[in-house]
Amino acid sequence: MTVPSRYRGQPVSEGIGLGHIYHGDSRDQTNGHRQPATEEQVRAAFAAVARDRAALAADLRRRGQDPQAAIVDIAALIAADSALITPVVEAVRAGADGADAIHQVGEAQAALLAALPDPDLAQRAGDVRQVARAVADHLGNKRAAPPPAATFILVRREVDPADLIRLAEAGLVGAVSVGGGASSHAAIIARGLGLPMLAGTDPRILEAPGGHQAILDTNTGELIVDPAGSELAAAQTAITSAEAPRSTVRDVTTADGQPVTLLCNVASAAETRLGLSGGATGVGLLRTEIAFTTVDDWPSREDHLAQLTPILGQLNQRPAVVRLLDFSGDKVPPFLKHQEEQGLTALLDAPGALRDQLTAILRAGRGSRLSVLVPMVRSLDEVAAVRAALAETAVEVGQEPPKLGIMVEVAATAANAAAFAPAVDFFSIGTNDLTSEVLGLDRADRAIRPALAAEPRVQGLIHRVVEAAAETGINVSVCGDAAADPVVLPLLLALGIRTLSVGAARVPQVARQIADTQVARLWRPAP
Ligand code: PEP
Ligand code: MG
Repeated sequence: MTVPSRYRGQPVSEGIGLGHIYHGDSRDQTNGHRQPATEEQVRAAFAAVARDRAALAADLRRRGQDPQAAIVDIAALIAADSALITPVVEAVRAGADGADAIHQVGEAQAALLAALPDPDLAQRAGDVRQVARAVADHLGNKRAAPPPAATFILVRREVDPADLIRLAEAGLVGAVSVGGGASSHAAIIARGLGLPMLAGTDPRILEAPGGHQAILDTNTGELIVDPAGSELAAAQTAITSAEAPRSTVRDVTTADGQPVTLLCNVASAAETRLGLSGGATGVGLLRTEIAFTTVDDWPSREDHLAQLTPILGQLNQRPAVVRLLDFSGDKVPPFLKHQEEQGLTALLDAPGALRDQLTAILRAGRGSRLSVLVPMVRSLDEVAAVRAALAETAVEVGQEPPKLGIMVEVAATAANAAAFAPAVDFFSIGTNDLTSEVLGLDRADRAIRPALAAEPRVQGLIHRVVEAAAETGINVSVCGDAAADPVVLPLLLALGIRTLSVGAARVPQVARQIADTQVARLWRPAP
């Protein structure tokens, strides 16, 4: 009897996957007879990888998957970067082996990036390693075996986001990376696609037998190779019950009949399709900045239209809450990195950029029940500035101004919600930023989890926001990741929240938990 082998990793995208182990790292196809590479071959290998990634990005853009395309574009830029190519060419000229030189230069650059204090830049070390490996593989004529015909779990030293996008419709049911973390681009893409993924996994997984059956369970943070029959049956049941409600959820009500509006968070057309097919009533948070985190200037009106149209076009008369660019935290594009002001302040300091985005939102959102959401609000002046720009833009476009709401995700704004309520049409609580500020944890910190929004200080602030909204008669929703957390969700329902917006792939699961919850039986804070 085969004994199951277990490998632990950090869950970075939730779910359970059942499939055969597929090693995506390439194998030598030359039977060990390697010819020394010439400078031209080295340059050609870099160029081939850059072309391949650029072509994949263009293909993704054509399919309306702009955020994914932006990520693959980064790999294309790295593969065309002379800072990487020149030292490799020089080393080969001096007699070094091509693959060794690529590996050494790639590692040196990755180490420099990994040491940077900015966690977002530090995560790019993985992108450099992926590109270096792809170039070395191209040079050495190394290729991964094709994936199995059945469902499979991808295992790589460093999972490349491009792998996930390419294999998503070819039987991929999960991914396991020895490198990376929760904010690596591969993890971001895995979450958007609803694929379970482990990062920082025990490196012995690279020696596990390919083709063997395995269970990837992010509840336990384990990959189990050759699982026991009982484990296989349990995993199969869990997968079936997670998938079942996808086609059936429509009106979401609690077990005691209270209606809840369940919306989805998206940044791409693919997530919008996933969320709506899972039963979301509409989009509760469109993160417009994700598509533009690598750009060199403010996006133009046309850039915004190209991004918004494939998403909002799906929302025929459904709610669509479009958030203005939130170039803050780990989403600051290169052109703002060294500016004094970022985020909402930078956007308000660039009135042309704000107008361009508002115009595109109004035009692309014509067929939907549109609202505009302002991120990271700190003052009433900011609300007034956006309200004025929205009113003027609406006149220009010949439309009624849509509702204007604010993200409540800064602790001082939450504490002072009663002052903001009369100035806005709705509140949307961003538990990700709120929790990290209240608990004094960086959002890139490994310790930060959506469940931490259960902490009484965070709950106390949410309570104040709900009360302020009720007194003024405006709606309040929660769109941070805590809305989909099984521990926090009942607390939010108990506080009176009846509108939730969750990751597109999480809609069926959250709908099921709401349907199983008796709100009347939940503990309620004293009035
Ligand atoms: C939040 O902070 O909870 C939120 C929804 O905004 P983002 O995660 O995009 O910062
Ligand atoms: Mg936020």
